[in-house]
Amino acid sequence: MPDAHRLRDLLIGRIRATGPLTIADYMADCLLHPSLGYYSTRDPFGTGGDFITAPEISQMFGEMLGLCLAQVWIDQGRPKLFSLVELGPGRGTLMADVLRATRAVPGFVTAARVHLVEASETLRQIQADTLFGHDVTWHGTVNDLPDLPTFLLANEFLDALPVRQHVRDGNTWRERLVTETEGALSFTLGPAMPVPELNYHNVPAPLPDGTLVERCPALPGIVGTVASRVARGGTAIFVDYGHWRSRGDTLQALRNHTPEDPLAHPGQADLTAHVDFEAIARATPASLCSVSAMISQGVILERLGITARAQALAQSMGGARLNAHVAAHRRLTHPSDMGDLFKAMALVPDGAALPPGFDQ
Ligand code: SAH
Repeated sequence: MPDAHRLRDLLIGRIRATGPLTIADYMADCLLHPSLGYYSTRDPFGTGGDFITAPEISQMFGEMLGLCLAQVWIDQGRPKLFSLVELGPGRGTLMADVLRATRAVPGFVTAARVHLVEASETLRQIQADTLFGHDVTWHGTVNDLPDLPTFLLANEFLDALPVRQHVRDGNTWRERLVTETEGALSFTLGPAMPVPELNYHNVPAPLPDGTLVERCPALPGIVGTVASRVARGGTAIFVDYGHWRSRGDTLQALRNHTPEDPLAHPGQADLTAHVDFEAIARATPASLCSVSAMISQGVILERLGITARAQALAQSMGGARLNAHVAAHRRLTHPSDMGDLFKAMALVPDGAALPPGFDQ
């Protein structure tokens, strides 16, 4: 059987045996099935891959965020030992840029212990190559992160976490599920059921029937654990594409840089869903951490000084390299590009100052 269809046939077999899958179960297997999942079988980043992320567009992204973390470290009295964490590091480019940029901050790198949370063996190998020469510890989940002050970045990590979809129906919800019809995968709706976790969507006014709402079951646990580490000192910065209180179906598949039906090629397309930043705020225990406003990527990068950095780098460039550099700056910050769609949010210990750029 061609590899291309193995995961689809496996999922169809499972649906026939035990019934339709939640979208979250479908996403989990498509992305992280140990031998057939998208992230488990390839390096999807960069121009040759399916999509390109901010750290792969320009070193400036990691430099700005790294120096932002370092400023918080200084403001909090330079803790002598801390975890420098990244969730879902992809190729390791962001962490490499952070470590290079913060070499200029005396004592920061020496006090840092690098911890990466990465599910994919393939990507761990690539991260090890990118970060060669640094002492790195990998973990499968945030639960294994040490109980130390924690300076954490997560770029396009939460969007890869599986979501469930629920459609409003009277006073209840019907879950959107993946089933099979005559050997092909298709969507269906499950029985009407209450979903208490979604009740807040009906305030101040009940949602109209037919409204689709997504929720990410893993997000509250992850954010809660991150908050418990940051409560010891440090900060966590989440960057992702999304909104405040997302509505509607945002599940999307990208294969060879082209959007496609999320059911078309299980395991061969990247599947993501927009991040609901309100869910991050709601999952942060107020007794542990405070949460910044949600700020667009373009605005936060400008506030952190990306334009001055872009100009400084441009001094030594010319020709095609300069053009690419100018385009990268625009791509990261311009509202019609990533600048508006991507958002950032920071957590700090309850009562601590917010990171630079998040405090205005
Ligand atoms: N931050 C990187 C990559 C984003 S892609 C960048 O900006 O380029 C998502 C990353 O999260 C990948 O490294 C993927 O393998 C990892 N990942 C996805 N789901 C995960 C999970 N449940 N646990 C740990 N890592 C996960």
